[in-house]
Amino acid sequence: MRVGYGYDLHRLASGRDLWLGGVRVDYDRGLVGHSDADVLVHAVADAILGAAGLGDIGQHFPDHEGRWKDLRGRALMERVMAMVRQKGLRPVNVDSTVHAEQPKLSPHRDRIRESLAAMLELAPADVNVKFKTNEGLDSIGQSAAIAASAVALLTDIHPR
Ligand code: MG
Repeated sequence: MRVGYGYDLHRLASGRDLWLGGVRVDYDRGLVGHSDADVLVHAVADAILGAAGLGDIGQHFPDHEGRWKDLRGRALMERVMAMVRQKGLRPVNVDSTVHAEQPKLSPHRDRIRESLAAMLELAPADVNVKFKTNEGLDSIGQSAAIAASAVALLTDIHPR
């Protein structure tokens, strides 16, 4: 068994869609980034790469490369899963937290879990998603940004 940790943060701005865990969440602003800025997918992908000892998404999908522009969370995770599979590993479970003051995310919890689970080839019960506000403090608390953190456990596809 191998454990990994991931963290990410993106700025909120108008004129962008808000993507979280591969789900488009209805909100008047979205996260800014070279990709679709799906902060939850990015944190989970980094946790999975970390557990596999494969570095981070910044190395594999550099934001100065035009081919990764507007990269969808789902497409990014597909590539991460292929790298991990190549190492003979698969996810066992993932736990994550989205740090956001707005919008209210709990109504989207099940959809986000199902979406992430499908990307990770896991049951929704093995993909936990928590939501936390920052009590009105700092950039997250002032609704200027959303962050996400995650841990992932990987195991051998073929037990030795
Ligand atoms: Mg990111």
